[in-house]
Amino acid sequence: MTTLADPVPGGRPGDVERATALSAELTGRGVHGIVLAYVDTAGIGRVKTIPTAKLASAAAWGVGMSPVFDTFLANDSVVSTDVLGSPDGDLRLYPDLDHLVVLSGQPGWAWAPVDRVTQEGERHPGCGRTLLRRIVADAAQRHGISFQAGIEIEWAVGQGSALGDDFVPAVSGPAYGATRQVELSDCTAELMAALAAQGVDVDQLHPEYAAGQFEISVGALDPVAAADRSVLVRQTIRAVSQRHGLKVSFAPAVFAEGVGNGGHVHLSAWREGRNLHSGGEGRYGMTAEAESFAAGLLAHLPALTAVTAPSPASYLRLKPSQWAGVFTAWGRETRESAVRVITGTAGRREQAANLEVKPVDLAANPYLALGCLVAAGLDGLESSAALPDEITGDPARFGAEEAASRGVRRLPTSLDEAVEEFRKDELLRAALGPVLADAVIAVRLGEIAAVAGLDDGQVAAAYRWKY
Ligand code: GLU
Ligand code: MG
Repeated sequence: MTTLADPVPGGRPGDVERATALSAELTGRGVHGIVLAYVDTAGIGRVKTIPTAKLASAAAWGVGMSPVFDTFLANDSVVSTDVLGSPDGDLRLYPDLDHLVVLSGQPGWAWAPVDRVTQEGERHPGCGRTLLRRIVADAAQRHGISFQAGIEIEWAVGQGSALGDDFVPAVSGPAYGATRQVELSDCTAELMAALAAQGVDVDQLHPEYAAGQFEISVGALDPVAAADRSVLVRQTIRAVSQRHGLKVSFAPAVFAEGVGNGGHVHLSAWREGRNLHSGGEGRYGMTAEAESFAAGLLAHLPALTAVTAPSPASYLRLKPSQWAGVFTAWGRETRESAVRVITGTAGRREQAANLEVKPVDLAANPYLALGCLVAAGLDGLESSAALPDEITGDPARFGAEEAASRGVRRLPTSLDEAVEEFRKDELLRAALGPVLADAVIAVRLGEIAAVAGLDDGQVAAAYRWKY
């Protein structure tokens, strides 16, 4: 479980003693440095590193880093809002000791996610991890509800020797193909070992559909830990692959055409140990609250895409009939609707039932994405929103009239459209708070400007190796 208490200057009670002991233990295990990791508004993982001996000091006082990264773009240029993007000021990065992990994929290193705190010891309003912690804590307090979340990871494996920014698939076997599994046998075995050593319970790893594509799914955790895990797993995939001479891309679209890399989110709401998506009176065993939660997700999805699909390249992936779920519809085990209701198999429903949200990719900041998804679902739950009828099959087959009568909307087809939807969505903007909401808009507009005049192939290339 993730602690719901914010870091404080001087350290949370017991943190400094714990960090002192941990740093001695890590040194004994040959760990020389610790990666302090967070994700910026544009979805880029940013880090500082410290020597292992400095862990206690970091737990007490944090490590400095500029707030300017809240308005960095994927190409490292900077935009600004009323309060962000200035060269002035500083923040403190506080490692979360509960989630510190020795990196098997990077010998000599450990890794920890951070919360960002102002120099005055206040929550930094631009910190996505702090925000998600607060949203989860509010849900527990107001509704007695907790969440389990998991983020699937798809990625494309390319040859490390490919020229420049080119992507040359490192494997040639077919989708879900046995030959492709053999081609990457050593690397994926090492990956499984590294993840197990890092305490990540892998559910599955398989060759996916697109050229060189693989997918991994991992066990569900509380939302903050699930977002941390998504960052950690990608760090590990990248590190292990590099040791095998391979390059990996988590970009939404490695190429302009064809199936992209998704980051589907699995989410379930629980109260007092009971899964609200199972054993209820609603459709497929959903409780009334779970149905309303799903309705809330669907209602906010057009605006949510500005957070869950934040890159110009995201809209190369978000196309109908490519399993990315680009229609505001739901169905049991449907793969073209944005929300797939998963009941689990008979006998395991109580543990397994959840909602899978598909129009999410790995350019998304996972903390912001989960925070906004939870806020959207809770909005439906609080207003007892009615879940529309189920849609089976591919909603792309509906004409405009039929889609409208069924309440099925196509999600934004560009980042510009997503930003316009986001601007209109007061609930999501309030969930993020004014500082982050403005940062989201400024960063998205910055990305749009950064690709002005580029064709689709050039957009895919511009983001291919960024995430
Ligand atoms: N690659 C697809 C996407 O872009 C998902 C494929 C799947 O259903 O796993 O979301
Ligand atoms: Mg997949």
